[in-house]
Amino acid sequence: MPVFSRQYPGIINKLVSFGHKHTEKRKIDVIIIHSVYNASGGDIYDVDLIINQFAKYKVTPHFLIDREGVIYQMVKEKDIAYHAGVSRLPDGSTGINSRSIGIEIITSFDEAPSALQMDASVKLVKYLKEKYQVKYVLRHSDIAPGRKTDPWNMNWEEFVRRVNNKKDE
Ligand SMILES: [Zn+2]
Repeated sequence: MPVFSRQYPGIINKLVSFGHKHTEKRKIDVIIIHSVYNASGGDIYDVDLIINQFAKYKVTPHFLIDREGVIYQMVKEKDIAYHAGVSRLPDGSTGINSRSIGIEIITSFDEAPSALQMDASVKLVKYLKEKYQVKYVLRHSDIAPGRKTDPWNMNWEEFVRRVNNKKDE
């Protein structure tokens, strides 16, 4: 299990060269939760195959959470990652990549996030909410309805409840 602190020792750095744009400073007030699997042959849950797939499409999240709940950081938070696509916030605004952090949880159409992934995603989002003035924590399907259905099979109500519960570790 990843161990969390302000310094974030539980995160494994796996910074990639594609799918993002460097910035010196940006405002972060949105977190978008996604899910992904490897659809290109081989193990559908393999981290490196999934990263190869992101590379092929020149997209990436900031964070990727594997089935064991290990968190990989693929893009620095201050850099803009291409993860949201054509999308719109509840207040109607667009340009979500420029102000958001994207988190991909490895699941499939058939399987929910594992308990370890739920724990890791709750901890990660809580940490990011402490660090930034986050206005929205949303599913990809919330910002791109009709186009996106992820995160798949995620108990969103439980996730939101845990993120907002200060006692939940
Ligand atoms: Zn997505």
